[in-house]
Parts: sequence; structure tokens; C-alpha cells
Amino acid sequence: MDHSALSGAAGRGELVAWFQPQIDLASGRVVAAEALARWQHPQSGLVPPTDFIPVAEESGAIHEIGEFMLEQGCALAAELDDVEISVNVSPVQLTRSDFASRVIAAFERHGLRRGQLSVEITEGRPVLDLPDAVAQLERVRDSGVGVSLDDFGSGFASLKQLNALPFTELKIDQSLIRNDTEETWTRLASIVAIVRQRGMRIVAEGIETREQYERVRDADCDRGQGYFIGMPMPRSEFLEYLRANVRTALPAIGAVARRALLRAGIRNLEDAATHTRSDVRALRGIGPATMARLDTALAAASLAFSA
Ligand code: C2E
Ligand code: MG
Ligand code: MG
Repeated sequence: MDHSALSGAAGRGELVAWFQPQIDLASGRVVAAEALARWQHPQSGLVPPTDFIPVAEESGAIHEIGEFMLEQGCALAAELDDVEISVNVSPVQLTRSDFASRVIAAFERHGLRRGQLSVEITEGRPVLDLPDAVAQLERVRDSGVGVSLDDFGSGFASLKQLNALPFTELKIDQSLIRNDTEETWTRLASIVAIVRQRGMRIVAEGIETREQYERVRDADCDRGQGYFIGMPMPRSEFLEYLRANVRTALPAIGAVARRALLRAGIRNLEDAATHTRSDVRALRGIGPATMARLDTALAAASLAFSA
């Protein structure tokens, strides 16, 4: 393949951002997505990032690609408002002294709030060796952009990096999750415990099976990402995916009743449908009028209390 064509690919519209959903493991709700680069090569078709990112890092095209992905990520975060977006950043991008300024400028230009954008730095290469990297990541974080340590557990023993770098999130590598042994799950549990202490969020990536999904949820990870939850997809498909995952608001009910439902973890009709009718009726503050409203709203949404 002609990799020299990579230069200018973004400008020619050949680069595309795909998005892979991340769910909150406690509620099952889609709360975030990771932006993943794809190169639509005129002759070779869709080229995966594992093929062209290393080449782009060599040639310097990574800076242009990084800018493009940052822009796409910010634009979607601004449009969706309640879905956070993370964008991968190459260590090579961190060698530029204006890296932090560019990220912060994009974040502010799109009017994003704290946490709506994160950058992911791979554990696969020693970021600490880069002069200035820590300071730049601190600036980014202090401006309200999340800093995520990607591929944790895939290579460098990096509890050291955890201490030295201003991470707000840790992504457990799929190699750790796929390796389905007692030892792996024990190791995961201890990582989660350490990371929790530091107040960082934990995302499990590469979840391919229901079993893995249940394991990482029970291991107290915050978010999950993987083929079992959703594939990376073009932006338009991702928007469709979100529409299919929307939650239906509760009907108009009194404040007391609403608080009673919230206390029971019922924030929308889909939550209500996970409870039996008699359990909901038994909540303090829920009367027959509220039950009638819920019955009507559930029926209208083709939902029902559980049996
Ligand atoms: P990553 O950041 O760790 O992204 C996750 C990769 O795992 C993605 O591969 C995703 O498609 C794949 N994946 C997700 N769920 C599953 C699963 O359940 N099972 C398996 N086997 N794989 C899963 P992808 O899109 O091919 O990207 C590969 C790597 O390329 C990324 O790993 C990231 O390091 C790099 N990359 C992608 N986009 C960019 C970018 O815009 N900039 C930079 N610098 N690197 C990028
Ligand atoms: Mg990543
Ligand atoms: Mg990763």
C-alpha cells in the first residue's frame, strides 16, 4: 500500500472517525464513546489504524490526523451533550510543545464542559520519558479535559506512570480481560482497588462475552467497552445506536412520588420495567394516582412492569 498518500488524507476527506460505545456498567446506559480513526484509502479500501498510525508517527502525518480526530470528537461531544467522547493521542503528538494548547483550544471552541472530552494515552510506550509530557497533560487535565491511560496491563509495569502522570481514568486492556483465569480476575480486583483509592475512573475494554461483561461489572469497573456492547461504527450509525438506546422519561407525577422512585433507582420507564408492580406500589410516597400514570405511560411505550 502507498503510505505516502497518508499525508493530506484528512484534508482530502479520506480519514474518518468511527465511534465505539461505552456503557455505565451499573445502569447499562451509553455514557461515552471512543473515537477510532479509519483511513478510506482510494485503492485499498478501509485501512485499520494499526496499519497506518505507526506509519503516520514516522512521517509526522500523525499531527494532522490527531487534529482531525480531536475536531471530530469535540464536534460530536458538543452535539450530543450527554455522551462523553475520548480521543486517542499518540506519544508523538506529545512531543510538540503546543499539544496542550491545541487540545484546550478545541475543547473551548466547541464550548465543552468538564469531562465531555478525554484524551487517551497508550500504556504501550513510555510517555514519562518525554520531556514536558507530564506538564502538558496536567495543563490539559486542569482545563477540564480527562486524561486516560489506555491499554493498561498490556506492557510496561505502569503503576509508576499512574503515580507520576495526571490520569483521571484507566482503561484495562483487553488482553487482561480475555485471559479468563482466576489469577487474572484477582489481579483485576487489586488494580481496581488501587485505582479507586486514587479517585480514577475504570473502563474495561475488549469485552466480547456476557461472562466477561458480568465479571468486570462485578469487579466494580465503572464503564465497559467491547464488541459485546457495541462495535466501532461510523458516526451516523452511532447516532442510530444511541437512538435505539434512549431511555423514556417518567410521566408527570408529583415531586414526592418522583423522589420515591429515584430512591428506588427508577429514573425512567425502562428502570421501572425492571421492577414488579407490587414492589413499586409498596414504595413510600407512591399512591394509586401515580400507579395509574405509570401504567398508562408504560403501555404507551410498549413496556410493562416485570412479572
Ligand atoms: P485502542 O485505543 O486500545 O482502541 C481499542 C481497539 O480495540 C480498537 O481497535 C477497537 O476496535 C478494538 N476493540 C474494541 N472492542 C473490542 C473487542 O471486544 N475485542 C477486540 N478484539 N477488539 C476490540 P482499532 O480501531 O483497530 O484501533 C487500534 C488502535 O489504534 C487503538 O487501540 C489505538 O491505539 C490506535 N488508534 C485508533 N485511532 C487512533 C487515533 O485517532 N489516533 C491514535 N494516535 N491512535 C489511534
Ligand atoms: Mg484507546
Ligand atoms: Mg486500548
